[in-house]
Amino acid sequence: MAMKLKFNRFRKDVLDASLWLSSQGYFGSSRGSGGNVSVRIDDKTMAVTPSGVAYRDMSDDDICIIGLDLAACQVKRNRRPSMESGMHSIIYRKRSDVNAIVHTHQIYGSVFALINTPIPCLFDEVSLSLGPVIEVVPYAFSGSDTLARNVGRTLAGGANACIIQNHGIVALGRTLDEAILHAELLEKVAHIYCLALSTGKPVTTLPESSVQKIARMHKAQAVKK
Ligand code: 13P
Ligand code: ZN
Repeated sequence: MAMKLKFNRFRKDVLDASLWLSSQGYFGSSRGSGGNVSVRIDDKTMAVTPSGVAYRDMSDDDICIIGLDLAACQVKRNRRPSMESGMHSIIYRKRSDVNAIVHTHQIYGSVFALINTPIPCLFDEVSLSLGPVIEVVPYAFSGSDTLARNVGRTLAGGANACIIQNHGIVALGRTLDEAILHAELLEKVAHIYCLALSTGKPVTTLPESSVQKIARMHKAQAVKK
């Protein structure tokens, strides 16, 4: 019983974050179940959204408590943890500074997932938070070990977001609020970059000295966290 109560706060946080992202269109449809959200409970356990459940039908006891080894800890009888739990688990194991992960199918981030093009250093604000380049991770089938490994490899270097080719994006944070902020920043920069490219005029990126400075600051921050 005490255990169940201990997990309630994490379940509520994951549900609230998911409902907010869904209401803002980050999962691509208001009635669907695309994307997933998790929070680290401790160095062995996470709370993660269930697989294939529409957000508008989700309640806090649907949120699954599972080990980072993917063993079920508390999962409702008619629920399965997200098919991307392996991807969340790899990130938590590689990045001790990360305590929350959102995987979304947001529109402008997904434009770059289709044209398979990374987003370069365009704004201090975005690059300081996410990393100097928002990389595109090569496509692999949803929920596969290959996809989990590809994403884990890309984010191991300290970036707080990446794009998944022909799929969506992943954003990380020290808290759920920060992971959501990072997904918002990615959407903002993707939207503006998309509009800028559509003018046909050359897009200016930050000068190399700023890129280097941001890369250094980001690396130091990631190590300190
Ligand atoms: P789940 O419903 O299993 O979390 O899958 C959604 C998704 O976005 C797969 O990539
Ligand atoms: Zn997905």
